[in-house]
Amino acid sequence: MKLNFLGYGGGFYPEAGSTSAYYIEGDKMLLIDCGESVFRVAKERDIFAGIKDIYFCLTHTHSDHIGSLGNFILYSALKRNIKFHVVCTPTMKYFETLETILIAGDCNGLYDIFPPSKINSIFREFSAMHYLLTDHSKNLPAYSIVFVTRDGILFYSGDSCSIKHLDGYIERHTSIDEIYVDTSLHDGPGNVHLSLRTLDEHIPPELRHKVYCMHFDSPECIDAARKLGFNTVDRDL
Ligand SMILES: [Zn+2]
Ligand SMILES: [Zn+2]
Repeated sequence: MKLNFLGYGGGFYPEAGSTSAYYIEGDKMLLIDCGESVFRVAKERDIFAGIKDIYFCLTHTHSDHIGSLGNFILYSALKRNIKFHVVCTPTMKYFETLETILIAGDCNGLYDIFPPSKINSIFREFSAMHYLLTDHSKNLPAYSIVFVTRDGILFYSGDSCSIKHLDGYIERHTSIDEIYVDTSLHDGPGNVHLSLRTLDEHIPPELRHKVYCMHFDSPECIDAARKLGFNTVDRDL
C-alpha cells in the first residue's frame, strides 16, 4: 500500500511542508496528520475531488501535525459535503486535547469519532490498523500507526525518537510492506526525532528499499538518507 504525501518537512523545516500522508480508495480517503501547510496543499491539488468520506488518523497534537485540521474539516464538510471521521478512541492519551482543538476550530457536529477496530470494513487494501504509543516529546503523547496489508505491515512512525517498534518487527521477522519513518540529521541529546545514525545502525541494507524517510529537519538530511540507500518521500511530491 503506497502512501501519497502532502509535505515531508519537520516543524522547523516548513519549506518542505508539514509531513502528512493520504491514501485514496474509490470515494474514501485515509488522511494521516494535518499540519500547518496541509490544507493549502490539499486544496491546491484538489485531493477532495470525488471523495465522500475522509478517515483521519492523528499521530500527535504538535501544530505541524494538527495546525490546519480545523479548516480542513470545515472545508470538507461545508464546501465539499464530505463526511469526516476522526479515527481514534476516547482512551487515547491525546483525546481530550484533540476534542478541545476541534471545538476551538468550530468543528462541532462536523465530524464523528470512528473506532480503529472498525476500519477493516472500510478499505480493501488493509485488514486492520493499530496505534502504538511511542516516544517523542515529554509533554505530549505520540503514536505510531501500523496497517496490516496483504503484503505485510505498513509502519508509519509519526514523530518518534524510538526505534523500539521497528526493532521488534525486524527481530520477529514480521512481513513488511513499507516503512515510513521520522528521520533527523540532528543527533544530539534531547533529540525528539529518530536520528539517521540510529536508522543506519538498525535497518539492514536488504530492508532499506522498503524504508521511506520523512519529516526531515533539513535538505542535507534528505541527501544523507539517500546516500545510505533509504528512499525519501519527497520524490512523491
Ligand atoms: Zn512533527
Ligand atoms: Zn512532534
